[in-house]
Amino acid sequence: MSHEIQIGFKNNFSGGELHNNHMSDLTMVKAGSKKHTHSHEHDNNCHESSHKHCSLYTLSETGEAPTLEEHKEILKNAGSLEFNIFKFSQDIGRDKAFILLPMHFMATLKLDDHLDIDEEKFVKFGEQIYSGYRRDVEYHNDIHGLDVMQFAYVVLTKFGLIKLAELTSLDILSTLVAAACHDYGHDGVNNVYHVNTISDRAITYSDHAV
Ligand SMILES: [Zn+2]
Repeated sequence: MSHEIQIGFKNNFSGGELHNNHMSDLTMVKAGSKKHTHSHEHDNNCHESSHKHCSLYTLSETGEAPTLEEHKEILKNAGSLEFNIFKFSQDIGRDKAFILLPMHFMATLKLDDHLDIDEEKFVKFGEQIYSGYRRDVEYHNDIHGLDVMQFAYVVLTKFGLIKLAELTSLDILSTLVAAACHDYGHDGVNNVYHVNTISDRAITYSDHAV
């Protein structure tokens, strides 16, 4: 099976378990060779093995079903320091970018095969992380998370960290996921601001690492 085209389910998907209020504006669609949308309700019922064809996704913000194949041109230098994360996100949409780039890295490194990753759960996880980043924050937003993950990929591959440190597939996946998630929920202000304004967050965490 070609990773460049699509990655099928490896396990039956129990959809809905990752859904929360953040997901209300996101709509999953079927993808692959036939691209058409289906509703969130359908997605919640997408547990059956007959839905193995639901192998890719899209989000309602941009309404189309991206595939690795149709974006291979724009992804071809995704593993280089020259990769322009801002242009990439602008060209295909921030929501798609946040899913497509991790999928590309996962497929390139064959992590889905090595770790038997459920494609749809991985996509839903990505949607959750994307939803947790704030678009109104100028720097510590989803594009920054993606940018750090892309640089982590360069360090792992081009800079040779995988070989140097003899990293396992789980180590690699953990590094990429940690990079993508590292500013999840960032509100755009720093520790000092929270402490000085006696914010709820500073009170909750006693001024430490807020
Ligand atoms: Zn950061």
